[in-house]
Amino acid sequence: MGDRIFLSSPHMSDEGYEQQYVQEAFDTNWIAPLGTNVNEFENELAAKVGSKSAAALSSGTAAIHLALKAAGVGEGDIVFCPTLTFSATANPIIYQNATPVFIDSNYETWNMCPGALEEAFKKYPEVKAVIIVHLYGLSADMYRIMEVCNKHNVTVIEDAAESLGGYYKGQHTGTFGDYGIFSFNGNKIITTSGGGMLVSNNEEKIKKARFWATQSRDQARHYQHSELGFNYRMSNVVAGIGRGQLKVLEQRVEKKKYIFDYYKNELIHLDGVDFMPVNDWDQPNFWLSSMTLTCDVRPIDVMEALEKENIESRPIWKPMHMQPYFEKYDFVGSRVSEKLFQNGICLPSDTKMSDEDLKRVVRIMKGLWMK
Ligand SMILES: *Cc1c(COP(=O)(O)O)cnc(C)c1O
Repeated sequence: MGDRIFLSSPHMSDEGYEQQYVQEAFDTNWIAPLGTNVNEFENELAAKVGSKSAAALSSGTAAIHLALKAAGVGEGDIVFCPTLTFSATANPIIYQNATPVFIDSNYETWNMCPGALEEAFKKYPEVKAVIIVHLYGLSADMYRIMEVCNKHNVTVIEDAAESLGGYYKGQHTGTFGDYGIFSFNGNKIITTSGGGMLVSNNEEKIKKARFWATQSRDQARHYQHSELGFNYRMSNVVAGIGRGQLKVLEQRVEKKKYIFDYYKNELIHLDGVDFMPVNDWDQPNFWLSSMTLTCDVRPIDVMEALEKENIESRPIWKPMHMQPYFEKYDFVGSRVSEKLFQNGICLPSDTKMSDEDLKRVVRIMKGLWMK
């Protein structure tokens, strides 16, 4: 059996940039708290995506939580959330004792359907915030979505955890709404081992988020707290890894695209195979190469065949409205997300994959169509 091929695993730079920044933290004893790496990682990421300010946090989930808090979302408030996503998008809505309403995808983007969103506004005009996700690095249809949201004057939070390095009409994902969040979890396109970032053009709100993230300590010599606090800040060591990783982001996107193009060229001609939609206006980061199967070969057949050869793959996210924990909440739309879940599969998209590895995956898959 060949070496294990991962879906998407950490890939540090060949140049050792990450270790240089981490070494600096050691040399200056800025292991904690905060320090140069945190400040610079915030500045560098904000500059990269084209946002005015950023707060480095312990996770993408923490960033979503603080974005909701900054938006004033609290007990009983309604928040629209895509149903087709990872649970981390929805969980913070519950942390704030608010109520999610799940919105369906469309086939054109796999992301939130603007029509279903409009329908949801009719049903819940009092909605407090809308979370948009850019799934697998594909951008949602932001102009149409922002048009709908602006009409209703609602706060927009973009969960760009999967789309760092991905653009919609030349503008970086995560910068269209009031807040954007990024994740540096181990399987994301770049990683700090774990971490997240909240970005916004509203510098006051970002300052406030940093305050909440460091236990809401008031300006006083003694420990004084007028607000509920959180321990959500990124450490200076971790931020050093992030600064190094940011230097190779473009390289990673290039490789992810190469992987996607390779699979598409090799597999698109097979019966019943379709790939994730790449729209004219979209410049995805191709985080995970994903496809749908509507033929005798089912996603589970592919996953099992690959697993037998020590190769990791997985289904498309299971929609939130189908999750035991979330099924009691309302869902607006048809059944697009359910179909994508049924028929979808994410192929191994690890940036360390060689051409040999890609050949191996494709050979195993083609074999299933020849039976
Ligand atoms: C990974 C991910 C998150 C959570 O990020 P963490 O840093 O792991 O907390 C949120 N939303 C989506 C869509 C993700 O893929």
